[in-house]
Amino acid sequence: MKNILRNLKKIIRCGFALKCPRCCQGSLFQKRFKMFANCTECELKFEREQGYFIGPMYINYGATVFLVFPGYFALDLFNSIPFLVNFSLWGVVSAVFPIFFYRYSKSLWLNMDYILNPNT
Ligand SMILES: [Zn+2]
Repeated sequence: MKNILRNLKKIIRCGFALKCPRCCQGSLFQKRFKMFANCTECELKFEREQGYFIGPMYINYGATVFLVFPGYFALDLFNSIPFLVNFSLWGVVSAVFPIFFYRYSKSLWLNMDYILNPNT
């Protein structure tokens, strides 16, 4: 946990730039949703084991909940829009946001895991 906090700036910088956690130069994605198997710059293998990318699902879920629940209650509190409109709006956001955030959740997961286990 200390390593994550100490390297938080690097995790955020490389994670949101969709760059390799080791060199912060090579791109993680060759297409919108297709990752490279290895870093094009330093050859770091991105998928370290079978099922490695289940972790990003938790990050994606957490980010979605972190966005949708406060957003729903903030709109409910400070606006007089009907319940059904507010509920529908955040329902759509909760369906679309994870698709948008998919690449970032994978990148953030990879960067966090690399900080914790750099040699594996
Ligand atoms: Zn690299």
